[in-house]
Amino acid sequence: MTGGGSGIGLAVAHRLGADGFGLIISGRRAEACKAAVEELRAAGCIAVAAPGDVGDPEDARRLAEQAIARFGRIDVLVNNAGIGDTGAVLEETLESWERVMRTNLTGAFLVTQAALPALIEHRGCVISISSVNGYRPGPGWAAYSTSKAGLIMLARTIASDYGPQGVRANCICPGWIRTPMGDADMDEVAESQDTDREGAYRLTHRDNPMRRPGEPEEVASVVSFLAGPDAAYVNGVTLAVDGGTSIVDPTAVSRFRT
Ligand code: NDP
Repeated sequence: MTGGGSGIGLAVAHRLGADGFGLIISGRRAEACKAAVEELRAAGCIAVAAPGDVGDPEDARRLAEQAIARFGRIDVLVNNAGIGDTGAVLEETLESWERVMRTNLTGAFLVTQAALPALIEHRGCVISISSVNGYRPGPGWAAYSTSKAGLIMLARTIASDYGPQGVRANCICPGWIRTPMGDADMDEVAESQDTDREGAYRLTHRDNPMRRPGEPEEVASVVSFLAGPDAAYVNGVTLAVDGGTSIVDPTAVSRFRT
């Protein structure tokens, strides 16, 4: 579980822990990993902290090794670690572009590569947390959206290349989810729109069919499905968990008639 110390990752860890999986919790901040592990153990889960940077090949390799050393196998890899982005192409620097790619896409590649031999051995699965921005760009989010599109294709290549050996790979594309990342973006909207965080969530969800953001647990339950036997023949899919945001046509004229 990469990025298991907060937000969606922590909710996924709770859910998979309740499903009976042993957990390896990774992230750059050792303290956040440790706190998450304590919280998970208090909830009755078996969890181990393995702090590290997914973009560092050594850390990625160590993460897989720690999982095998502790549990003797890897059944599920959740590529969840991710960071946001701020620029359109002309505003993007090479440094920030590479930082986002390194974490969101190369990190998933590195950790998957390190875990694949063990996943093949036990016919395990990979679940990557992309974003609706993986198929619809957020305005001014060039690196983020591109990295998330890459994550979808990475999952498809794994599904295609390793399906014959029993490994499934799928991608989840969340819309806005209430997490530290989601809240931070909403706080920016709130400041520019002269409202508060809740006002920003309401404003940005005016066109969402469910008129609200998602909760981390609503992503975690989908991860649980994809990780479990009910999804035994689900391979290479891209599943939106966005309350319907991505099916709305923002240009439909009927929306502007009174
Ligand atoms: P958070 O910021 O709460 O979680 C991101 C996690 O990734 C943190 O635990 C962070 O830990 C970890 N992380 C970041 N960089 C690295 C790195 N280089 N190596 C290891 N871990 C890293 O945000 P969310 O829970 O919202 O995000 C989880 C995923 O969901 C992300 O991939 C995000 O893009 C995606 N997503 C989120 C949406 C939302 O609205 N919240 C919508 C769509 C997609 P640490 O800082 O300790 O490294």
